[in-house]
Amino acid sequence: MAEVDDVKHITSDYSDQKESQSSADELDSPAVDDSKPLSIKLDKKSPSFDMPLTPTTPHTPGTAPPGKLPVKNPPQLITQQNTNNHKVPSPGSSGSSGTPQYLSPGHGSPDPVHDLPPELLQAGWRRFWSRREARPYFFNKITHESLWEMPPMPGQTDPLTNPLGIGEPTTPVVDSAQRSLSIEVPGRKRSLSDDGAMLSPNKKPAFTFSPFWNFEVPTNIIIFERKPLMIPAPHPDIEQFRTQLMVKLRTKYQELCHTREGIDAPHESFNRWLLERKVLDKGNDPLFPTDCTTEVSQSMYREIMNDIPVKLTKPKYSTDARRQLYKYAEAAKRMIEKRDVTPDSRKLVMWQAEDTFTWLRKRNNASYEDYLERLAHLKRQCQPHLTEAAKSSVEGICTKIYHLAKDYGQQVREKHTQLLKEHNIRMPSDLPKPAQRRVMCYPAQVCALSPYCSGVEHHIDGDITYLRYKGEAHKLNSTHFHKLEQLYRWNTRDDVRFEHFLARVWCLLQRYQTLFGIQTNEGFGMQGALPVPVFECLNRMFGVTFECFASPLNCYFKQYCSAFPDTDCYFGSRGPLLDFHPISGSFEANPPFCEELMEAMVDHFENLLAETEEPLSFTVFIPDWRDPPTEALLRLESSRFNTKQLTVLPFEHEYRNGFQHSCPKVEINVKSAHGTLIVFLQNKAGRVKWEPTPERITELRLAYRPKVSSPSS
Ligand code: SAH
Repeated sequence: MAEVDDVKHITSDYSDQKESQSSADELDSPAVDDSKPLSIKLDKKSPSFDMPLTPTTPHTPGTAPPGKLPVKNPPQLITQQNTNNHKVPSPGSSGSSGTPQYLSPGHGSPDPVHDLPPELLQAGWRRFWSRREARPYFFNKITHESLWEMPPMPGQTDPLTNPLGIGEPTTPVVDSAQRSLSIEVPGRKRSLSDDGAMLSPNKKPAFTFSPFWNFEVPTNIIIFERKPLMIPAPHPDIEQFRTQLMVKLRTKYQELCHTREGIDAPHESFNRWLLERKVLDKGNDPLFPTDCTTEVSQSMYREIMNDIPVKLTKPKYSTDARRQLYKYAEAAKRMIEKRDVTPDSRKLVMWQAEDTFTWLRKRNNASYEDYLERLAHLKRQCQPHLTEAAKSSVEGICTKIYHLAKDYGQQVREKHTQLLKEHNIRMPSDLPKPAQRRVMCYPAQVCALSPYCSGVEHHIDGDITYLRYKGEAHKLNSTHFHKLEQLYRWNTRDDVRFEHFLARVWCLLQRYQTLFGIQTNEGFGMQGALPVPVFECLNRMFGVTFECFASPLNCYFKQYCSAFPDTDCYFGSRGPLLDFHPISGSFEANPPFCEELMEAMVDHFENLLAETEEPLSFTVFIPDWRDPPTEALLRLESSRFNTKQLTVLPFEHEYRNGFQHSCPKVEINVKSAHGTLIVFLQNKAGRVKWEPTPERITELRLAYRPKVSSPSS
């Protein structure tokens, strides 16, 4: 986390104008058929047709203006994702106490004309509904501009792209052209003003800028409607508290490993523990595991044991190999002397250690292979006794850390509940299960609002953007800040005026920072992404529109699963993968390298594939670790749904940097030191629709070729 002292901060300054409940409530309705071509004909020659068109990209037809859509919506709970409640309601005000409420089925049907402030109506703006994209858009009947986002109020500057309002044109029409999608409206030539040529040079159209994501790809995923999650929306004060406790837990873990086992906590083992615990956890803290069936984590136990009595790394030279052999013998002897073990165990380990010292004295110049062989022999002899000696103490560490996590999760919960209470917001005790209804997949929803938080400051300093709250600052690349802005526009329905935007971005960054860990580069390895050309190819060749493992910072598509539904739902997350049950669609899965999560992923995919007759396909990318092979790898290879598999070799392909949101551009691609196994898991219909034919596989291999040289991981 960076401290920012010498930069000027701009506190969020948004109008508190109340938006209407937009027609966006009908988003993702299955009744809307995205795929159908438009039937309305446009007179391309007419210089001034008044037909409003949706913002679109070249080669995609715009949509006709809607009337009332024939969409049936069930009663909907007002949640953080679909209310227009921005500020903390005053106690006792009706409908604003945070109590769950339901919208009537007809609520939210598009009101094509009057759903805008009078200033915008006067400037020619109207709100319409895009059937193709299933979301609202704005059309100016005077200038014929189309925008996905709400046009700015006359005279208002855009706080995100130009916080200081420098060079801001005075008329709203020019400003909104600047924010537009650079749209080619069929039948109308792009004018200079569409290209921004007449605008202040320091502003760039944010929406067209998508260097490493593609939010134009619509979802092809069908799910059953889900009820909102029983977690409240994030708040910076709560996030700060959660971070403090998580740092405490990490520190305690290191301390226990050190004092009890004489080793450092194995690198990243705490992060893998968090992921492993979340496979089992039924609790409701998004980060701390609080309700797991077992206390002793297999992953934490295995990783600590692996470094007992001493951490071994692959030696480079024979001198390193010799040193490691000596270190192991020394540590084994020391450990067995101190622990409560059977006399036979002690005798055997001591004898092996002494024998090794004798061998080392005699063989001063042994070869690299000889040292390694001797070390393997020593380990084979001693490890079972050392494991037995350390078992209860290592289990004790796992249990202690889990119980502390439970306690911290509870503390966070209590603090959050208290905050909500102070603002008269009530968490529902439970929510009814929605009727089984198939819908296009939509972002996760949380069940309670959080109070409005105005204290987040942001400052854009060229390529870097800073966000600060109560002295704690986060730094990210400005392109990623704009990416978050786009995701927010696409996915958040309760905050058209971006009043919560900065606080929600801050919470998101704080959460991921807390997940990554406290040491330099910690967390990096769990966030590496596929290269952009591979995503493009997966979409083109295999109809992929969805990432099963992602974050708002590393996603390529605008629809994806991620670890944290509460912080990420505003940016399009569908929540954790294991809670997501698609019926059809084509997916990419590049899981973080946690064995238990990868294994659970394979089980999950197999269950989903077995449950549906509709086209379903998962293209899975995992490390080609074969010494020994992981359980996930074995299961993928032997799966009855495996329709094709291939391997890309180490150093012949790359990943995008796990810290792509904050690393310098030159470090964005990282050569992979391990091979990657790609497996297509498909049901029958999935195979028919997205068959991995030899031609398509060749395209995938080509897409994987590194474009320029890059450092290795
Ligand atoms: N989206 C990129 C990068 C994947 S890195 C790609 O597909 O190539 C793996 C990501 O999975 C990380 O961002 C991590 O935070 C996220 N993740 C961790 N646990 C998850 C879970 N249970 N469900 C979904 N995503 C998860």
